[in-house]
Amino acid sequence: MAKNWQHTTFQFCTALLSVVWLLFGAPARADETQGVQRLYLLNCGESETKDVSMWSPGVDVGKPREFSDSCYLIRHAKGLLLWESGVSDAIAALPDGMVVGNGILTLHGRKTLRSQLQELGIAPTDITVLGFSHFHGDHVGNANLFTAATLYIQQAEYDAAFGPDPAKFNFNPAFYNKLRDSTMVKLDGDRDIFGDGSVVIYSTPGHTPGHQSLLVRLPKTGPVLLSGDAVHFRENWENRRVPARNFNKEQSLASMQKLADILEREHATLWINHDKPQTDGLAHAPQFIE
Ligand SMILES: [Zn+2]
Repeated sequence: MAKNWQHTTFQFCTALLSVVWLLFGAPARADETQGVQRLYLLNCGESETKDVSMWSPGVDVGKPREFSDSCYLIRHAKGLLLWESGVSDAIAALPDGMVVGNGILTLHGRKTLRSQLQELGIAPTDITVLGFSHFHGDHVGNANLFTAATLYIQQAEYDAAFGPDPAKFNFNPAFYNKLRDSTMVKLDGDRDIFGDGSVVIYSTPGHTPGHQSLLVRLPKTGPVLLSGDAVHFRENWENRRVPARNFNKEQSLASMQKLADILEREHATLWINHDKPQTDGLAHAPQFIE
């Protein structure tokens, strides 16, 4: 009898432990040992224009439009990757924002990048891998914070940004000159960053000489393609429109086709950095996307 009782108690405890394991201990999330674990979408600025036709020549002339400006913090089993760094944190201190491009665009900083990282318990020096779609000021505004990271950059973008005449490409070295001595991986094409296919840089020149896009395989959401400024908003994507201020229109059109092919092949979702309606519909940090 006593033995039976002991046995029943043992069985009960084992069953209870299993339930506790299932509820609290089981790996409820994606595999933490490999691939991309999660992505934090950060608000890295907002902007507005009085005339959107600068981005869609001949279309919607004189009509205003608001843009989002996103940064993407990607936690991979092998490191912490920051893609884009938004407008300079200094702009967040200006109540009316900053007018740029001969009055074409007003930039705002709603929250500093530094404070958003801090909220997640992340210091700029914790970022191990760094990349930008391109070197315009609304993407490299806080680049100088991340000198500890390895920078992935297309050779063509490097030559333009760190060469003799960055202003010719509308680049401002004050935002990124501290990266000159960073560890760099210079690319001439596509690159699988971690070697497991989970985060892949695609060369998509045109907007600037070495513009690049990023495919991220999220564990639950599936693959997303971060298009940077290869396209600026959905209507331009659907109509293959290239903005007036652009390095090479033919390259831009070819890059859009390349992105379309990747989307089809990978069954990926396109996330357009400056498309505010799309960005507003996504969860922002401190929430994360798996
Ligand atoms: Zn931009």
